[in-house]
Amino acid sequence: MIIAIDGPSGAGKSTLGKMLAKKLDLLYLDTGAMYRAVALAVGKANVPFRDVDRVADIAETAQIDLVGEPDAMKVMLDGADVSMDIRTLDAAQAASVVSTIPAVRRIMVEHQRAIGESSPTGCVLEGRDIGSVVFPNADIKFFLTATPAARARRRFMEDQAKGRISTYDQTLAEINERDERDVSREDSPLTIAEDAIVIDTSELDLSEVFAQMLERINDRQAAAAR
Ligand code: C5P
Repeated sequence: MIIAIDGPSGAGKSTLGKMLAKKLDLLYLDTGAMYRAVALAVGKANVPFRDVDRVADIAETAQIDLVGEPDAMKVMLDGADVSMDIRTLDAAQAASVVSTIPAVRRIMVEHQRAIGESSPTGCVLEGRDIGSVVFPNADIKFFLTATPAARARRRFMEDQAKGRISTYDQTLAEINERDERDVSREDSPLTIAEDAIVIDTSELDLSEVFAQMLERINDRQAAAAR
């Protein structure tokens, strides 16, 4: 079973994706972490993002592995644990830029398909283009969204808990900037797949969204078994 979860940042994709993967015993793939790792590798190599050929080379040769259980997943770049390094504000912005490069997307999509198909039970993938590009034939597609204010509030609270120094206004501005880049890029912009189930999480808590998602998955499985 392939479950696609797309949507803008801060809509709850990662948390809910991990919860679903655990509950249904599926592999969990955070595709944003892959773009973040590429951005980090490009930064380490001191290559400017406008040098798209060299950036694509790095994306091709970098060894990116996501290892461990969904809620304790480590992101490895060329054998080193970069799980923390990829979560900075700079890494998020860099990932948002590197993900606009078509050659990088092509390489990442290939990896993501291979990983998704390698799991004997199936995979929950979360990102921006899973239902539209990576797995257009996914068994079920969710598009999680929320108002920018609700998403920024969540991100801001997460950042505070992690001891990061930022303000709510900075977080909101950062979210708006990344949203804008995601929806306006030419290659695989963030869109709602025609057959996606849209859930606005602004006014819902996690358990409510999780219950809704599970119900839709169960319905889909029951219909497929008929
Ligand atoms: O989801 P996350 O915030 O970790 O993703 C980092 C960046 O990578 C996003 O801002 C987005 O621009 C990009 N991304 C993408 N396609 C995906 C996943 C992430 O373009 N499938």
